[in-house]
Amino acid sequence: MASVFTKIINGDIPCYKIAEDDNFISFLDINPVKIGHALIVPKAEVDYIFDNTDETLAQMMVFAKKVAIAIKKEVVCKRIGIMVVGLEVPHTHMHLIPMDEEKDLSFANTRVKLSPEEFTELLNRIKKNL
Ligand code: AMP
Repeated sequence: MASVFTKIINGDIPCYKIAEDDNFISFLDINPVKIGHALIVPKAEVDYIFDNTDETLAQMMVFAKKVAIAIKKEVVCKRIGIMVVGLEVPHTHMHLIPMDEEKDLSFANTRVKLSPEEFTELLNRIKKNL
């Protein structure tokens, strides 16, 4: 069965899409740890990140860099941290999370609740930096 991220890639379910090219997509995490929390997802559905080809892994970081720079221009933070977990969605993805201190990079933190309007407004602010 297709992963939830493949369904997003195929347009079967919606997302707050930041960027897309032939091989990758980025969208806002629907249950963000911090405002500006985004995901970087290769379009080819591979569960475990280190089962991807060297080329995909290298390209994923370059794609993530563009998105991280765009997020950092809009969200006040010291830097954009990276996390890879993949226990909830078995489709390779990298979390980009605005952070000021180490404890910001924890899924144990209370998630931020945003309305659809707030997601859209944040998305548009990030996208204009691309
Ligand atoms: P993990 O697989 O543990 O790295 O976590 C999966 C992440 O995907 C979580 O942070 C979820 O909030 C996020 N997520 C799951 N479904 C969606 C969706 N439909 N749109 C955006 N983010 C999602």
